[in-house]
Amino acid sequence: MNQNFICPKCKGYLNVGESIVLSAETKTGAKGLIYFSPEIGNYTIKKNTNFVIEEGEKHDFFCPLCQRKLAADIHDNLSHIIMIDKDKNEYQILFSKIAGEKSTYKIIGESYEIFGDQKSSYLDFINLSLGK
Ligand SMILES: [Zn+2]
Repeated sequence: MNQNFICPKCKGYLNVGESIVLSAETKTGAKGLIYFSPEIGNYTIKKNTNFVIEEGEKHDFFCPLCQRKLAADIHDNLSHIIMIDKDKNEYQILFSKIAGEKSTYKIIGESYEIFGDQKSSYLDFINLSLGK
C-alpha cells in the first residue's frame, strides 16, 4: 500500500495490511469493526456476519484507537479520515455514514475528487466548505 490513513484526532494509523479498520455503531447501539478497502471508490467491506447493517441506515464511525467520533464538520451524514500518500501529501477523505450510499470526497487544498454512484449528494456542502 502506497498510502496511509490516519485518525484526524489522535493521528493513529487506521490501515493494516490491505484494509482500513474503523469501529462502527448502528442507531440501535450495535457495535462492530468494519474493514474498508484503501482503494477510494471501492465500497467492498468486511465485517462480522452477526454485526448487521441495514441498507439506508445511518451509523457512526469511531477511531478504534482513541474512540473519538470521526465526524465531518460540513455535514452530519459524512465521516472524516485523513489519507497521506507516498509523497506525504495530506488529503481529507469524507465518506457517507449511510449504508449503501456511495459518496466519497478526496480533498486537498481547494481541489477535490469525487467517487461513488451518489457522489453528487454532498457536493454543495463540499463547495461551500471550500468557499466555492
Ligand atoms: Zn483516533
